[in-house]
Amino acid sequence: MDLMINNTYTDMLNEKDIIFEIFQYAQEKAKLIGAENILDFSLGNPSVPAPAEVNSTIKNIVDTFPPLSLHGYSPNRGLPEVRKAMAEDLNRKYGCHYSMDNIFMTIGAAGALAHAFRAVAMPGDEIITFAPCFSEYKPYTAGAGLRLSVVPADISGFQINFEKLEEMLDPSTAAVLINSPNNPSGIVYSEETIIRLSRLLEKKQSEYGHPIYLISDEPYRDIIFGGVKAVYPANYYANTLVCYSFSKSISLPGERIGYLAVNPECCEAARIIEICPQISRTIGSNQAATLMQRTVAEVCGLTSELSVYERNKDLLFNALTSYGYSCVEPGGTFYMFPQAPGGDAYAFCEKARELNLMLVPGDVFYCPGHFRIAYCVPTERVERALPVFKALI
Ligand code: PLP
Repeated sequence: MDLMINNTYTDMLNEKDIIFEIFQYAQEKAKLIGAENILDFSLGNPSVPAPAEVNSTIKNIVDTFPPLSLHGYSPNRGLPEVRKAMAEDLNRKYGCHYSMDNIFMTIGAAGALAHAFRAVAMPGDEIITFAPCFSEYKPYTAGAGLRLSVVPADISGFQINFEKLEEMLDPSTAAVLINSPNNPSGIVYSEETIIRLSRLLEKKQSEYGHPIYLISDEPYRDIIFGGVKAVYPANYYANTLVCYSFSKSISLPGERIGYLAVNPECCEAARIIEICPQISRTIGSNQAATLMQRTVAEVCGLTSELSVYERNKDLLFNALTSYGYSCVEPGGTFYMFPQAPGGDAYAFCEKARELNLMLVPGDVFYCPGHFRIAYCVPTERVERALPVFKALI
C-alpha cells in the first residue's frame, strides 16, 4: 500500500533537533549519575517562578467568573478588555498610541510570529533575519511558504552587519525580522542600530514602491541588565509589527499566551488585524485561552524576580573572560554566546558533554564557531560549572 502521510513533516523528523537531543541526553545521564552531577545549560526555560500574583489572579478569576464566560470561546481577536489592557500597558511603558484595535491575542510569541509572517508576506516572498538567530525561524517561515535569508553575523558585537543586509535586500523582501534582546547572543540592539535600520528600510521601501515590514520578536524585552539602554523599535519605524510573549519575563511558557501589536502608523494597520482571525482559521490556531488572557490583563505590568539572570551573567562573563574566552557581554535575556576555543563549536560542545556540561553549538543559530550557554539555572549550578569551563580552555 502507498504511504500517504505528508513527507514534508516526515522529512523534518530526520533533521536533528540538536537542542532537544542535548537536553534529552542530559536527562538520561542524570538517571545514571544523579542530576546534581549534570551541568545542563541547554534549554531556555525560565528558572524563576511566576510572581505569586499570577496564581492568585487565576484563583480569583476561577472563583468569580460565571462558568460559561470563564470557559467560553474568546472573540477571535481576543477579549476586548484584554486587548485594551495590552494597548494601555504598551502606551504606558513606551509612550506609544496603541488602541485595542492594534492588538491581536496569540498563543505565545510563536503564534504572533505565525500570524505576522502570513499577514505581510505571500508564499515565495523573502524574510530577512540576522545571525545569530533563534533556530525555529526556519520552520516558522517555511510553514508559511516563505524564504528565510540570514544575514551573516557581525561577530565583533552582534549588532547588524549593514553592508550584507543592504546587499541582500531586494524587491522580494516582504519583511525584516529582528530579535532584541537576542536569543542566543543576549545582545540588545543599540539605538544607533535601530535608527540606521529604520533609515535603510525607509529608503528601500520607497525604492521598491512597497512596504518592507519590520517584525520585532520581543519575548525577552523585559529582561534587560542594569545600565543597558533598550529602545522600542516601533517608535522608530512606522511599519513595525511587535510579537510579544509572557513566556520568559513572567515565566509562563507553558500557558502559551502573547500578542501581536501592529503599530497604529503601520501601512494597512487595521487590515492586518482584521485578517489575523482568517489566518488563524487556516493554521488551526484559533483564539488564545480565555483564562490566560484574563490573567495577563491583570499582571502585564509585573515580571518574575529576574535578578538571578543578571547575577548568573556577571559570574559567567567575568569568569569566562578571565579564563581567556572571547565573548560579547550580554545586555539582557538569559543567554551568552562565547567563541568556541579551537573554532569548532561541535567539537567543543562534545568535549564539554564528556565532562557533563551541556552547551549548544552556534551552528544551530546560523553562527558557527560559537556556543550558547542558557544560564536560566540556579546560581550554584553556574558556580559548579566554572572549573569545567576553565578546564575546557
Ligand atoms: N522567539 C524567540 C527568540 C524565542 O527564544 C522563543 C522561545 O524560546 C520564541 C520566539 C517562542 O516563544 P513562545 O514560547 O512565547 O512561543
